Amino acid sequence: MTETTKRVAMVTGASKGIGLGIARVFAAQGYRVAVVARHADAAEEAVAGIVAAGGEAIAVSADVTDRTSLKAAVEKVIAAFGGLDVLCANAGIFPAADLETMSEDDWDLVLNTNLKGMFNTVQAAIPALKESSAGRIVVTSSITGPVTGFPGWSHYGASKAGQLGFVRTAAIEMAKYGITVNAVMPGNILTEGLEGMGEDYLSQMAASIPLKRLGAVEDIGEAAAFFASPAAAYITGQTLVVDGGQILPESLEALA
Ligand code: NAP
Repeated sequence: MTETTKRVAMVTGASKGIGLGIARVFAAQGYRVAVVARHADAAEEAVAGIVAAGGEAIAVSADVTDRTSLKAAVEKVIAAFGGLDVLCANAGIFPAADLETMSEDDWDLVLNTNLKGMFNTVQAAIPALKESSAGRIVVTSSITGPVTGFPGWSHYGASKAGQLGFVRTAAIEMAKYGITVNAVMPGNILTEGLEGMGEDYLSQMAASIPLKRLGAVEDIGEAAAFFASPAAAYITGQTLVVDGGQILPESLEALA
């Protein structure tokens, strides 16, 4: 199918931020890319940028909490590009809420989007990925939850740690189809979503990172593209921290 032409990647949450970075890197590497987000206008704008840079992309409107819209999204990708080779399950949200006052709705929104939304997305894509000779699933997790913590993000951290538990068993179940399942764990990446945290947050974060800068969205795109590449054909169920060394220092002195 797509091997005779270009490989096809579908990226959720690709209208901005890390997802857009992933989509741009895949397009620059010659993939045909489906940019998925809820807001069609923003997805179209992202596609226009990719096309202007010489890439091939389509916009697909879908909500990862809505299984019907995801099924339709995969069908749209197949209709446009003839198949699907790589799924990047990236869409996620991080609204802060302190544990003591967190409502059940706060918890459900984050878990339904980040963890169940990833499950919904992966499950919708499996039939199409099985048709690829080298299906790839790349999940965007985080250092927050699996490795670190930050006040206000107990629900978010639980969702991101949960994704890694999912990846390990999904990798075993998908191996019989030649589909690999891996996760990228970004540190603090400069996105529209993170910019909302404010200047103090951003400057303190940069100071706590050995490489002394927040990550660029393309840093995550390159890691996702590695997992999707033939070079990573024998890697499955694994994680890759991309954080400028942020999880390494044991104390402030270690950063001096
Ligand atoms: P962002 O800039 O806020 O972008 C989020 C993207 O996800 C948008 O395209 C948004 O478009 C889409 N989205 C949100 N809810 C959705 C839903 N229910 N269905 C479909 N699409 C949805 O976020 P980001 O910072 O790039 O984060 C992207 C991923 O990276 C998340 O999984 C996040 O947990 C992870 N991450 C980010 C950082 C960081 O430093 N930024 C660090 C670690 C991990 P619509 O609103 O139009 O749907």
